[in-house]
Amino acid sequence: TGEADGFDAAPTMQPDDAYALDKIRLESDLRAALDRKELEVRLQPIEEIVSGRIAGYEALVRWQHPERGAVSPAEFIRLAEETSLIVPIGDYVLARVCDMLVELRERGRKPLPFIAANLSGRQIDDPGLVQRILDLLHARDLPPDKLKLEVTESLVMDHARIGDLIAHCHSVGMPVALDDFGTGYSNLGPLLTLNFDQIKLDASFIKALDRPRGVAMVGVIVGMARALDCDLVAEGVETREQREILHRLGCRYAQGWLVGKPLSLGDVLEH
Ligand code: C2E
Ligand code: CA
Ligand code: CA
Ligand code: CA
Repeated sequence: TGEADGFDAAPTMQPDDAYALDKIRLESDLRAALDRKELEVRLQPIEEIVSGRIAGYEALVRWQHPERGAVSPAEFIRLAEETSLIVPIGDYVLARVCDMLVELRERGRKPLPFIAANLSGRQIDDPGLVQRILDLLHARDLPPDKLKLEVTESLVMDHARIGDLIAHCHSVGMPVALDDFGTGYSNLGPLLTLNFDQIKLDASFIKALDRPRGVAMVGVIVGMARALDCDLVAEGVETREQREILHRLGCRYAQGWLVGKPLSLGDVLEH
């Protein structure tokens, strides 16, 4: 799995007018892509470090554009959020995730791994979201604790409904993770007031593990997560050295190229 999947290039900056034109084109393309099912949901494995077991996966959406090639979700999710397209895309991803859980179950994966889906702001603001997810799960006879929801720190700051969403999820047994922890102009406020089940430590902290300062900070975050009874997932783990240090510090889960790239369901089932 050592090769790049083509989604890692930085988005190029463009003059505003060119951007607007490009945006309109991209938007109509995206609308068509959704109809033609050009969007693919990939699964990136999440390893329990002590056992080496794959405990679950994160669902990451991909768009294979007919002319532009692979378009990064970092690009088109933002665009979709500016339009109403994020609503059907979000629903599509959640339904795919539930179907994938069924396939993993049918292949006899025991215990059944979890799959985590990323939520957009629109989804957080939608009071019907949890019930719709429950309907998807019940229709397939899936336990709600196998579907995790990920919300980023910046979304949490902007969406007052997040507390209600977490409470609703917990009342039905669905876990919620705080994504990209430690990035942006963040503070510890969300962790003070909100009861997350999992914290995903941003890759920038894992990169910093080559310095004593980084090791010290990650050590403190491991202790904080434990004190809050939150599972900690290290994101962007690329080297054995990083995993070794995380193991020593007591971080429970690792996600990143070292463990595996985002895979098609077919590739996941082959492992
Ligand atoms: P994220 O939630 O932080 O997802 C992790 C990103 O890090 C993914 O980028 C993944 O491919 C990349 N990654 C994983 N391991 C490594 C590693 O070892 N090294 C490096 N350098 N990168 C690694 P991706 O797939 O391009 O997704 C970008 C962002 O797009 C995601 O960031 C997430 O915020 C958003 N996104 C993806 N799928 C969805 C979706 O279905 N719905 C919503 N709302 N957002 C999504
Ligand atoms: Ca995520
Ligand atoms: Ca993340
Ligand atoms: Ca990120």
